Formats: sequence, C-alpha cells, structure tokens
Amino acid sequence: MTQRGTVLPEIDLKRCTGCGWCVAACPLDLLSLEREGWKKHSALHDAERCTGCAYCAIRCPFGVITMHPAAGSSVAP
Ligand code: SF4
Ligand code: SF4
Repeated sequence: MTQRGTVLPEIDLKRCTGCGWCVAACPLDLLSLEREGWKKHSALHDAERCTGCAYCAIRCPFGVITMHPAAGSSVAP
C-alpha cells in the first residue's frame, strides 16, 4: 500500500478538459472542478489527506494527471 502523502497527483491544467472523471474517481473526494474564465479544470484540495492511490490518474481518459513525489516526502527522486 502506498504511504500517505509520498506521491501526489499533478494536473496539467493546460490539457485538462474539465470532464470530471477524476473527481468521481477519488475515494476521498479530494478533487473538484474549478472554473477559470470560460474553462473548468480539476484541482486537488487537501493534499495532506491524499493517499497517493493514483485512482484519479488512472481514471483520467486524457493522461492529464501524473503522480509525483510530494515535497518534503522521504521518497528518493
Ligand atoms: S491519488 Fe487517490 S486520494 Fe489522491 S487525489 Fe487521486 S484518487 Fe484522490
Ligand atoms: S479526468 Fe483528466 S481531463 Fe478530466 S477533469 Fe480530471 S484531470 Fe481533467
């Protein structure tokens, strides 16, 4: 099992379509859609609670979410 907070999803906002699949995929409801002008994109809230399960990244049909070591984690880069 992934240790809490060692990896976090990074959302490529330029490529995010705002479809919301990742929002529905997060078991902890940590993602939501934010409006920016005429566009919507996904955003991670409460990163401290993210388990790094990567369900959101797996679910994104456009490969927009990648998992990265969290700042301050003990995971080697
Ligand atoms: S990695 Fe898991 S817990 Fe974190 S935002 Fe994605 S689905 Fe939610
Ligand atoms: S599933 Fe992908 S494209 Fe859709 S809102 Fe989430 S990050 Fe954006």
